[in-house]
Amino acid sequence: MKIHKTKNTGQISVFDVAKIRNDFPILNQKVYGKPLVYFDNGATTQKPKIVIDTMSKLFSEHNSNVHRGIHYLSGQMTDMYELARTKVQNYLNARHNHEIIFTYGTTASINTVAYSFGEAYVKENDEIIVSEMEHHSNIVPWQIMCTRKNAKLRVIPFNDKGELLLNEYKKLINSRTKLVAVVHVSNSLGTINPVKEITAIAHENNIPVLIDGTQAIQHQKIDVQDMDCDFYAFSGHKIYGPTGIGVLYGKERWLNEMPPYQSGGDMIDRVTFEHTSYADLPFKFEAGTPNYIGAIGLGVAMDYLTGIGLDNIQNYEKKLLDYGTANLTTLNGLKLYGTAKNKICLFSFLLNNVHPYDTGTMLDKMGVAVRTGHHCTQPLWEHYKTEGSVRASLVFYNTLEEIDFLCEALKKIQKMFI
Ligand code: PLP
Repeated sequence: MKIHKTKNTGQISVFDVAKIRNDFPILNQKVYGKPLVYFDNGATTQKPKIVIDTMSKLFSEHNSNVHRGIHYLSGQMTDMYELARTKVQNYLNARHNHEIIFTYGTTASINTVAYSFGEAYVKENDEIIVSEMEHHSNIVPWQIMCTRKNAKLRVIPFNDKGELLLNEYKKLINSRTKLVAVVHVSNSLGTINPVKEITAIAHENNIPVLIDGTQAIQHQKIDVQDMDCDFYAFSGHKIYGPTGIGVLYGKERWLNEMPPYQSGGDMIDRVTFEHTSYADLPFKFEAGTPNYIGAIGLGVAMDYLTGIGLDNIQNYEKKLLDYGTANLTTLNGLKLYGTAKNKICLFSFLLNNVHPYDTGTMLDKMGVAVRTGHHCTQPLWEHYKTEGSVRASLVFYNTLEEIDFLCEALKKIQKMFI
């Protein structure tokens, strides 16, 4: 533990963030001659040195394609790839190793279910429920499937704080509902949705549930058996791992019954010109050469987080959230979107009548990296009758001083524009 001094609150004890920051080489740099304040973690997180070094070593010393070679390197790489699958299984507390499908990211994971589940179970006039706060990647794949099948998309609304209206959700469920697909944590508002309750409500009606865990997995412990969801999707690059790797967790029963999504090498058992039989799980859903080095990198990122402790991360990020909320809300003219009781450390805001691009551009010139715009949730912004926001999304390598710096920077912007 280390005592961390801040301008506004005096002393707050936190875990050793300075030591943690040393694990992330990219953070220790200047942009435009100013120290980098990286608040764009919702878009992608930075990588600890252990992930970078491991992946570099794998390319330099071990690279070989998996599952198909009889030689030393291929065997070694196959073992490491399959060990990564077990690490993900343990991280999610999945019942079986073969319930973990490696994909290239959340988008690919959701597309897999939308296509494959749709082919197996969805008929004309059936319904799929999503929420008003979904990322486009948990809307468009369902929309395309609904168009193909002549099915309908139904939408759970949220209140102005950014909390889903569970009573409205219950009203949407009927005998035509085939699946519920809901985001665990909103990337635009930070809301942590009650996914266990949402799942239980669907299950009372024998409806399976897909949870988009892209913005949850890096902030809190995930237990898919306890949550009891049927599918859970996330991307490696949001959890301090590499890009181009992601995970689809699916309960064995569904994955066994669903047809493959993509096809080609690696996903087959036997091919003739008349007929093809498919490989067992998980390979049935992993067509072509997988991103094996990415998968191993993801496993290392998960080891790294486990080493720090998800509880420590959550406690520290809560301090950042409380401190940031207290300080940002003292700024006259700042409107915060996403004030749910249960949320991650994410601040979505507009500053007076300044366009979010202008705020973001000015912050960038001061060294602060934030995201601006609709954050791939256009229907969510329709709720607030606006086009988007400035989004500062923080994680455990961010500091209270960086929040002070953001507040000072926003005051300067107000002086320039107002
Ligand atoms: N879902 C949510 C909530 C997200 O925040 C994102 C990315 O920002 C995605 C899905 C899509 O993730 P990816 O682009 O890594 O596939």
